[in-house]
Amino acid sequence: MVESMNEGAVSLALDGTILYCNSAFATMIDQPLDQVMGHKLSDFVAKGEVAGLADLIARSRTQANRAEMSLVSAARELPTQISLNPVKMDDDSDVIGVIVTYLSERRSREQAQEAVRMREEFLSIASHELRTPLSTLVLHLGLGERLLARSDIPRLEKTLRKAKDQADRMTELINRLLDVTRIASGKLELELQPHDLGEIVVEIVDHLAEAANKAGCEVRLNIEEGIVMQCDRMRPQQAFVNVVSNALKYAPGSPISITLERRGSEAALLVDDRGIGIESDDLARIFNRFERASSATQSGLGLGLYITREIVTQHGGTIRAERRRGGGSRFSIILPLSVRPRPA
Ligand code: ADP
Repeated sequence: MVESMNEGAVSLALDGTILYCNSAFATMIDQPLDQVMGHKLSDFVAKGEVAGLADLIARSRTQANRAEMSLVSAARELPTQISLNPVKMDDDSDVIGVIVTYLSERRSREQAQEAVRMREEFLSIASHELRTPLSTLVLHLGLGERLLARSDIPRLEKTLRKAKDQADRMTELINRLLDVTRIASGKLELELQPHDLGEIVVEIVDHLAEAANKAGCEVRLNIEEGIVMQCDRMRPQQAFVNVVSNALKYAPGSPISITLERRGSEAALLVDDRGIGIESDDLARIFNRFERASSATQSGLGLGLYITREIVTQHGGTIRAERRRGGGSRFSIILPLSVRPRPA
């Protein structure tokens, strides 16, 4: 009977571990049935609701409770109503029976409208951002053609270099868009190997040296050696590049300091700048898709920090932004040195 229900049915241990679930529940969270049991129910709810769920489970030891909660899978967020009931198995084993009902109508219509709005915004921002380097590229190529006709090789070389810069900028933007698509479809896969984080930081600072020079930023490094982390090298590298490039972008003409230190079983990367700073109301919002602070002075997709946060949380870590006393911002990335990646 439980297997033929449309509702999800779950039995929970008091610590929130899923002891049993039916296939309707597994479908709701987009997971194969045999991979769900043994996980915590909190692994499948929206992050902001984890604390509320723990409280709900604690209260449901003795009485029935009901609440709205979003179930989260890699591909989507599902609005549901969950009803929890205490079940007495024998004298000392308490179990909580949970029925999960999909709140199909109004909520999902609102979510669909929001998704359409996001997609439209995304298309308009993406095409606007891509058009800028594309038109510059076309101008450089036109100039290149004329210089070639005049056999002005030194100026032609310079023009081609500029054209290549624009093509690189477009590649970077497109990669960013592809990453967002991969994140949305849960395809950001990690290949975990031990890597030296200090080496990664030094490498990206070298890579960004020219950009730092152009921005007039002196980069001060303070790196503790020998911090090795299990990670997919390319991903923390990308996360660090995003945060450091933002510092160059939003704090031109002032020094930037980058600190890497070990804190117990974690690594902390702190990037401090003395730039335009971020209003308190914007500090959390800027990590969401397309979100930009009210102070943003430069053009951008508002995706870099979103991708960065996804990479960091996939490696089991956290990222936050703070206002620095005396102006500017601090971004802190905390990463566990040995990672148990979040279930995809
Ligand atoms: P963008 O492409 O707009 O720079 P990000 O996702 O990288 O996108 O950043 C989101 C927003 O966060 C930026 O638009 C900017 O408003 C703000 N921001 C990021 N880094 C900094 C910083 N170091 N100083 C001030 N504002 C920042």
